[in-house]
Amino acid sequence: MKPQQSKALSYAKAPISKKIKPGGKTVVSQALVKHGVSNLIPKIHVKRGDIVMLMSGSKKMGIKTTGKVTRCMPKFGKVIVEGLNLQTHYVKPRGMQQNESGEIKKIEGPIFASKLMLYCTACKKPTRAKQVVNAKGKKIRHCRHCNEAIDG
Ligand SMILES: [Zn+2]
Repeated sequence: MKPQQSKALSYAKAPISKKIKPGGKTVVSQALVKHGVSNLIPKIHVKRGDIVMLMSGSKKMGIKTTGKVTRCMPKFGKVIVEGLNLQTHYVKPRGMQQNESGEIKKIEGPIFASKLMLYCTACKKPTRAKQVVNAKGKKIRHCRHCNEAIDG
C-alpha cells in the first residue's frame, strides 16, 4: 500500500524549472501549475529590513522570538532572519599555515515566510499590516492593533 500523500504542496519540494509562458510570465515550478496553485513566484508578505516574529517551529529554531529580515528568497518562498534558525557549520582548517584550528560557525538557515509574522515594535505584538495612504500619497503599512506606522 502506498503511503498517503499530503495534498499540501511544498514550494521547497516542487521541482524548479524555469519556462517562459506565452503571456510573458515566468513559470517557477511546473508542479505548482499542475496542481493549480500558481504559475507565479510565491509572494512573500515581509521584506528586507522588517522585524518579524517566528510563529511556528521548534524552540531551537527560535519560536516566539524576533529578528530582522536580512534576505528574501522569493523563488522558494523563504527568508533569512537574523538570529533565527541557527545552523551549525563545522569548518575544517584549510589554510597552509600550521597550528590552524577549525571552527564552529553558526549560520542562519532559511525559514518559510508563512511561519513569520510582522512584529510591531510600538505595541510589542505580532501583527498583520494594513495599507494606509499617507499625506504624500504613498502607501505605507500600519499595525492593525495600534495603528502605528511600520514603514518609516
Ligand atoms: Zn502595534
